[in-house]
Amino acid sequence: MVLAELCGRITGAIQQMKNATIVDEKALNDCLNEITRALLQSDVSFHLVKEMQTNIKKIVNLEDLAVGHNKRRIIEQAIFCELCKMLDPGKSAFAPKKTKPSVVLFVGLQGAGKTTTCTKYAYYHQKKGYKPALVCADTFRAGAFDQLKQNATKAKIPFYGSYTESDPAKIAVEGVDRFKKENCDLIIVDTSGRHKQEASLFEEMRQVAEATKPDLVIFAMDSSIGQAAFEQAQAFKQSVAVGAVIITKMDGHAKGGGALSAVAATKSPVIFIGTGEHMDDFEIFDAKPFVSRLLGNGDWSGFVNKLQEVVPKDQQPELLEKLSHGNFTLRIMYDQFQNILNMGPLKEVFSMLPGICAEMMPEGHEKESQAKIKRYMTMMDSMTNEELDSSNPKVFNGSKIMRIARGSGRIVTEVMDMLEEYKRLATMWGKVKGLKMLEKGNMSSLSRNKNS
Ligand code: GDP
Repeated sequence: MVLAELCGRITGAIQQMKNATIVDEKALNDCLNEITRALLQSDVSFHLVKEMQTNIKKIVNLEDLAVGHNKRRIIEQAIFCELCKMLDPGKSAFAPKKTKPSVVLFVGLQGAGKTTTCTKYAYYHQKKGYKPALVCADTFRAGAFDQLKQNATKAKIPFYGSYTESDPAKIAVEGVDRFKKENCDLIIVDTSGRHKQEASLFEEMRQVAEATKPDLVIFAMDSSIGQAAFEQAQAFKQSVAVGAVIITKMDGHAKGGGALSAVAATKSPVIFIGTGEHMDDFEIFDAKPFVSRLLGNGDWSGFVNKLQEVVPKDQQPELLEKLSHGNFTLRIMYDQFQNILNMGPLKEVFSMLPGICAEMMPEGHEKESQAKIKRYMTMMDSMTNEELDSSNPKVFNGSKIMRIARGSGRIVTEVMDMLEEYKRLATMWGKVKGLKMLEKGNMSSLSRNKNS
């Protein structure tokens, strides 16, 4: 089950519980059972799912809840917290500093995407002003050094390796020493992966770790490995001090559950996810927005970051001010559609927006969604300024709807569909009134109200 589907199933289960006439034991169990099934089918380990279910039931003690308590909200909150708990080990990973050289060691099975991810990690930090360097300590796989060399050259990152030396620990130490002398502040060591977990792989990893004394060991894991994720991650953790996880290949048909299981096994946070083969296909991972997206509530910080890339700086404060007050007019919807069309990979942006996740943007229908947005915008072009600035859909009576349909060359039901979509989005936006700007004029300092 791909993430979008998991997201749809969890959202659906919560919605069904919310729509129930009475929220009783049965409604709660139905909701939890559906979430359990969805998580298991997404390869989250069985014992984690069981534990989550037990914890939620402990938190939501329906019998003890006094009348007047919003049971629906309490259940939703408990699900959110438990999912976050699964993904958030409660400690953050070591963050490299520019003032002192850091050594980061990558471990994982062959084919997990380690070498690719090393370069992505280096490139990401290079863009942030670091001076990274790459060391190939994989002497097992023929071609490993060439691959790293090729990637590093493309990203203009210095690299070190050897075609003749067979001792990975020796190469790793040479590389680290050399780049320390060259004042690199982030030295990334790629290790051998082998085909499967075996004693020699773990022994080699231990030796390289002992020789280089890394500040951080990152476990790179292919998201599609399924139920084996928990045990695999645990085995690596037992051999070296894994401090962070990067889940690769989250694009395509990856099941997301492995990520949850790996965190639990290593007790280390997922810090990035790989979303494609290119250098830029790399995203910071943050548990709360991720779970928020899973629950169909949108990833506001991700959305704001994306928006920041396309909305001119002088327009950002005004836009956020409007959004933060839930004053969502058709004009704002129009402007946002425009931004979304400018933002490039639609799928990425859509999945961050509340309420849009599975409904407006079904997996594999990006082109149709884009066409729909353009159609909606054509209809809005036929509205008057007064209509665009209104946040009350009741102003659209029959004759106005007919006029808009005629003016845009569409049929009446399509205009009504567009207004329905507006109502749905307006409700969603209304939910995020907690958006706050901490520093005027600075979009990145935006934070969500804890209770929203
Ligand atoms: P390693 O053996 O662990 O070093 O794995 P590689 O870095 O050689 O990657 C194995 C394959 O996975 C290569 O074809 C990569 O291009 C591909 N790959 C790595 N990361 C990603 C990702 O995030 N998404 C996709 N689609 N492919 C990836």
